[in-house]
Amino acid sequence: ATSPAMPSSGDTAGGRPHVVLLPSAGMGHLVPFGRLAVALSSVHGCDVSVVTVLPTVSTAETKHLEGLFDAFPAIRRLDFQLAAFDASEFPGADAFFLRFEAIRRSAPLFGPLLAGAGASALVTDITLTSIVIPVAKEMRIPCHILFTASAAMLSLCAYFPTYLEDNAGSGIGDVDIPGVYRIPKASIPQALHDPNHLFTRQFVANGRSLANAAGILVNTFDALDVEAVAAVQKDSAVSGFPPVFSVGPLLPVCFPAGNQAKNPANYIEWLDAQPARSVVYVSFGSRNAILGVQLKELAAGLEASGHRFLWVVKSTVVDKDDAAELSDLLGEGFLERVQKRALVTKAWVEQEEVLRHESVGLFVSHCGWNSVTEAATSGVPVLALPRAGDQRVNAGVVARAGLGVWVDSWSWDGEEWVVSGEEISEKVKVTMRDEALRKTAASLGVAAAAAVANGGSSHRCLADFVRLCLAGT
Ligand code: UDP
Ligand code: UDP
Repeated sequence: ATSPAMPSSGDTAGGRPHVVLLPSAGMGHLVPFGRLAVALSSVHGCDVSVVTVLPTVSTAETKHLEGLFDAFPAIRRLDFQLAAFDASEFPGADAFFLRFEAIRRSAPLFGPLLAGAGASALVTDITLTSIVIPVAKEMRIPCHILFTASAAMLSLCAYFPTYLEDNAGSGIGDVDIPGVYRIPKASIPQALHDPNHLFTRQFVANGRSLANAAGILVNTFDALDVEAVAAVQKDSAVSGFPPVFSVGPLLPVCFPAGNQAKNPANYIEWLDAQPARSVVYVSFGSRNAILGVQLKELAAGLEASGHRFLWVVKSTVVDKDDAAELSDLLGEGFLERVQKRALVTKAWVEQEEVLRHESVGLFVSHCGWNSVTEAATSGVPVLALPRAGDQRVNAGVVARAGLGVWVDSWSWDGEEWVVSGEEISEKVKVTMRDEALRKTAASLGVAAAAAVANGGSSHRCLADFVRLCLAGT
């Protein structure tokens, strides 16, 4: 296993804190927890255990966890079986939101697990915050949060309960976050417009309890998310908000073969055969079910752009349910027409390997936060096509930072119209020849590397976090 370019901390000689990580479900959450586990264990000299909540929702999660523990035997695995959970209370709910709820309701069982582990500190996920902090408090274990999304989103999560109180009785409008900026109504995650939505109830409870955390780690860095990082750090300095550590971009960890199912498409060989910066890489993360009609417009747009492309197509929320044929999803004859200049696959690709490849010139992304941090790490420009959740907030961060472009009038899930193939094709063409954007994206790659290098801001923040854990032992 390799952990690229991770400098050593060298300042934990006084002892080794035992940090227990408790992630929730979904690759968007497991991936950064795995990266944090490796950084703490291999770079910052901590004993690390990762609670593995079983069963997992998706095949990708199962394989990811197997790969992590195989490649890093120093990281201990603490299996945790979920208590039975009756999902019929939430008909039609997203499989991952349901799993967050199931884990939250199993939380009393974490006590004995933590007691047995002998933890000096616990790091849990934002989705579990309000439930896990009281359990940790009872065990007298400091409980920190790893916020797996942007600092802008962290500030929204922390401010949203106050916003609701101040605007009781009126619907959700633009949310002007003090010290950060105004998030337009249209960018607020869809679920938050419904106060009774399962996600909203969790979001508000977690936002309220953030102040009770011992510390908050955020997977971001100054140059990417500058106003929001400054605002949350200022809050942590003056008003009793816990210390906030910007520790990103948490660096990708390459597992040896066997981690993810071998992709039959041989995408790296295919990328090797393409000219430098000629390929548009298209992916919407691990769990976005893009509507069939939007998929077909995207196909038309990529075809009409005339560019080479590598497209990872996922058409269901949970990978195990994805039985559709590409030819049915993308329309008759599409694959044949583009086969000389495109590779289209439904299988898992190692995205960070793709983004690092010199043939990739543009990333058409849904702007899940991990994808954004990976694009920044590689200095690859982004064309944002957010679909749901925090993705419009993230697309705003991408555009502000100069990492990419976002047409904020384009629709997302739940709106009646789709983004047309013609619009997508034009924007791909313009963005592929945008030299100024290429330069600002590349400079973010340089800033990301500087942040995580020895002495860089993110490296120092993680070392400070480890010192805080040591102080508590
Ligand atoms: N990912 C990947 N290969 C795929 C799909 C996703 O490696 O085929 C990774 C991607 O690099 C990222 C994570 O899965 O680390 C997805 O997280 P993100 O926050 O980008 O989006 P989400 O899936 O949570 O919407
Ligand atoms: N989120 C949050 N507070 C919560 C639950 C979620 O701030 O209580 C954030 C989460 O970090 C993410 C966004 O809300 O940025 C959408 O959450 P979801 O878990 O759907 O994202 P995904 O599974 O795609 O990572």
